[in-house]
Amino acid sequence: MDAKSIFLNHLAQTSPHPLALEIEHAKGSYLFDTAGKAYLDLISGIAVSNIGHSHPEIVKAVKDQAEKYMHVMAYGEFIQGPQNQLAQRLNDLLPDGLDSSYFVNSGAEANEGALKLAKRITGRTEIIAFNKSYHGSTHGALSVSGNEVKKNAFRPLLPGIKFINFNNVEDLSLISSNTAAVIIEPIQGDAGVRIPDENYLKALRDRCNETGTQLIFDEIQTGFGRTGKLFAFEHYKVVPDILTIAKAFGGGMPIGAFISSKASMDLLTYDPMLGHITTFGGHPVNCAAALANIYVIESEGLVEHVESKGALLESLIANPIIKEIRRKGLMFAIEFESADMVQKIVMKCIEKGVITFWFLSCPESFRIAPPINISDEEIRIGAKAIQEAIAESH
Ligand code: PLP
Repeated sequence: MDAKSIFLNHLAQTSPHPLALEIEHAKGSYLFDTAGKAYLDLISGIAVSNIGHSHPEIVKAVKDQAEKYMHVMAYGEFIQGPQNQLAQRLNDLLPDGLDSSYFVNSGAEANEGALKLAKRITGRTEIIAFNKSYHGSTHGALSVSGNEVKKNAFRPLLPGIKFINFNNVEDLSLISSNTAAVIIEPIQGDAGVRIPDENYLKALRDRCNETGTQLIFDEIQTGFGRTGKLFAFEHYKVVPDILTIAKAFGGGMPIGAFISSKASMDLLTYDPMLGHITTFGGHPVNCAAALANIYVIESEGLVEHVESKGALLESLIANPIIKEIRRKGLMFAIEFESADMVQKIVMKCIEKGVITFWFLSCPESFRIAPPINISDEEIRIGAKAIQEAIAESH
């Protein structure tokens, strides 16, 4: 059997028409297929490879830690250097109140932990989430995601969830003293890059304070420099009670976290004891990679260039056919009149060796989220391909 047949027949599929590029290796901003064709990755494996593929510091950290020890004990029992150092680094980087990290394996699991923690803190069960949001594919995370089509086949999901509209201040009155948590992406990703109005997150924070509701920021897509700050909440000067991170956190390795205050996190240790547990969460190799990732972002000063690189790319893809560009830093949605047009452009870009991609809940737009260390030259190459694809699809 050839590789494509094995892929199609023996690997579970997620869609009827996978791209099925056969990857041979990946380096920096590029993927290379087995035929030797290079693809400029303008989506970073969907907001994961923020420092590019196989960054040498990540590769070294993984190798070094794998040689020392890999899995030794389920999360939370042994003191492990990489976990400790990573927790300390995050504590240095984050504001007061976000000083205790619980490491998990993925974004969905980080949100599962955050929702459980909010229930445990408040003793309440109602959760408020947002239309068009995406928080993951497990039962709890899917329950608070706002895409009805993706949910219907899997009901019943979690009870007690209300959905409100992003950027609608009036809807905030639905948050009450019954609400355990509000979970929000401070910039909605899969809704097609929806940016909060100037004082929206502040109003949300105030309402949560009034009602004693935990505010959860899901920064799984927006974290680690993507929007021009290390975390998107820094743009709005609003600090959540619980922060969830994953995707780019591990520099290409799988790791997530939910982060809150020490006092809140301690609630997971009793009534019941082991309130949240995971075998592989905080895997030492992944923690070592995550530490190296933070080191690279800081030592290479990557975040400070994100806005200018984003502005350059935006100026180069400007085209009268585009209906709207929504952008924060290097997180883009490019909107057209129709989903059909988007479909054609994405496929034409791939033919030209440039990877863009669709959104889960916004078929009229395509996404761009390149490595934040993409060079200006690579930005020009990507923009030229997009311009050609638009012209050929129109
Ligand atoms: N939250 C947001 C905002 C996401 O974009 C995603 C993934 O796309 C998730 C959560 C789920 O993360 P994971 O796929 O690691 O479970």
